[in-house]
Amino acid sequence: MVPNVMSELTGKTVLVTGANRGIGRALADRFLALGATTLLTARSAAARETLARDFASAGDRVRVFGCDIADPDSVRALQTGVASAVPQLDILVNNAGVFVKTDRLMYADDVDPRVLEETLRTNLFGTIAMCAAFIPSIPAGGRIINVSSTMGQLSDGGLEPYAVAYSVSKAALNAYTSALANRLRERRILADAVHPGWVQTDMGGPGAQISPEAGTETIVFLATRPVGETGKFWNQKQIVDW
Ligand code: NAP
Repeated sequence: MVPNVMSELTGKTVLVTGANRGIGRALADRFLALGATTLLTARSAAARETLARDFASAGDRVRVFGCDIADPDSVRALQTGVASAVPQLDILVNNAGVFVKTDRLMYADDVDPRVLEETLRTNLFGTIAMCAAFIPSIPAGGRIINVSSTMGQLSDGGLEPYAVAYSVSKAALNAYTSALANRLRERRILADAVHPGWVQTDMGGPGAQISPEAGTETIVFLATRPVGETGKFWNQKQIVDW
């Protein structure tokens, strides 16, 4: 639904990666409803067509781009496309991520390096490439929200012994987010990592606890809160230990 009144993010531009399904798709609805100019990425042409159709009534308020964040050329092309569409980017939501099927039963003493590499290429290197590409376009007061997971949380007993590629990728993403926040502090750009909850998506599975809409809550909270703390790990709108 396109609002016709001023909303919390009116005048702001938000970019969401992996917006064709799951939490990313739910974020697209939320950010549009909050009044933002909403830039969405999807890897496949078919997914982009579906998104463009779904949001046709929003006109210029929604733009759909292609991007495989694991491919540096694709990230560069996205950056060029976005720069020609909007003057600045206020909020970057690095939502795109993978959890490779065979990783779910991959234990720490039996790691398939191909699964580890595939996972890191998107969840870590891809997210880092997105940050590097878009930081120059983000003004003071802007923010970077890295969608992470408590599976990468080192406190509270450490990582599970299985799903090693995914867990390590999110632990590394958390570590990167901390460094990024400290790098951007002087520019008053906030950078945080967030656990969205255990969400009913292709990744979370049907037995997960919350809907994709509910999975957007803390992300939207971070996107709309006043400028404040940065470099934190968030879960259910609270700061939690890394
Ligand atoms: P999902 O339903 O599997 O959707 C993942 C999205 O990421 C899809 O749009 C997918 O695009 C995109 N994507 C994957 N690799 C990509 C790449 N290399 N380049 C660009 N896009 C790529 O997953 P989800 O549950 O919505 O997860 C979203 C984020 O939340 C992820 O970062 C995930 O780790 C995190 N998370 C999820 C849960 C949960 O319970 N679901 C819990 C904690 C954290 P395609 O359609 O082209 O594959």
